[in-house]
Amino acid sequence: MKARTPFIAGNWKMNLDHLQSIAFVQKLAWTLSDARHDFATAEVAVFPPFTDLRSVQTLVNADDLPIAYGGQDISEHDNGAYTGEISGAFLKALDTKYVVIGHSERRQYHGETDEQIAGKVAAAHRHGIIPVICVGETAEDLETHGPSAVPVAQLRVALGGALKGSDVVVAYEPVWAIGSGQAATSDQAQQVCAALRVVIAELLGDDVAQATRILYGGSVKSSNIAGFMRETDIDGALVGGASLQLEEFASIVRFQKHVGT
Ligand code: PEP
Repeated sequence: MKARTPFIAGNWKMNLDHLQSIAFVQKLAWTLSDARHDFATAEVAVFPPFTDLRSVQTLVNADDLPIAYGGQDISEHDNGAYTGEISGAFLKALDTKYVVIGHSERRQYHGETDEQIAGKVAAAHRHGIIPVICVGETAEDLETHGPSAVPVAQLRVALGGALKGSDVVVAYEPVWAIGSGQAATSDQAQQVCAALRVVIAELLGDDVAQATRILYGGSVKSSNIAGFMRETDIDGALVGGASLQLEEFASIVRFQKHVGT
């Protein structure tokens, strides 16, 4: 058993409105509770669209559900004339524990740079929110630079914004594996996650590196999660498509039940 608590995070992307989010989170909690899931052995978080967060907060508080939630992005700025942006202060006011930063879809469709991502990591820490920093190479990067060069370089810049002593979660998400149905092999993912842990040690110190959860993301399913979780440097998963299928996501959360299969 690893010293770091495994973390299974569901990135809903632009799916499920606020009413659907309530139904989903409630059913997820029931399913896990019926299956006697021990949340001490795997932490669970969902990342709904911003417009759902207030509803999810109300449900989680009212029913005292052991499910964390987070935003899918955060502004570098705290307030002001930034139309469409969401401040870390607003996320914190909704008890948001985590925020996804630098997802490849933000990098690709919104032109987010590594420097902006570092600014967002700094903003999360200013507001006491744990950043889930996404890094990963495209298929072209993989061919040109090999497996770890790009994610390592991205993480070096992103961690420039981290406040020493504050928690971070890192998600290694090869862009070619996201939504493609073609996950990395657990060996490939382990190799990159180990290189990312070295960067964390260099920049934030050994103790932080040992305590930091590094997730793999990219076509994770209940049928491949166990292989990833057996690796020394993989502490969980950031799950996209499969996080919207209730039974499938609950089965990923309960990876310990099929880790020996
Ligand atoms: C993601 O979007 O972060 C992701 C990993 O997606 P999927 O699981 O669908 O590949």
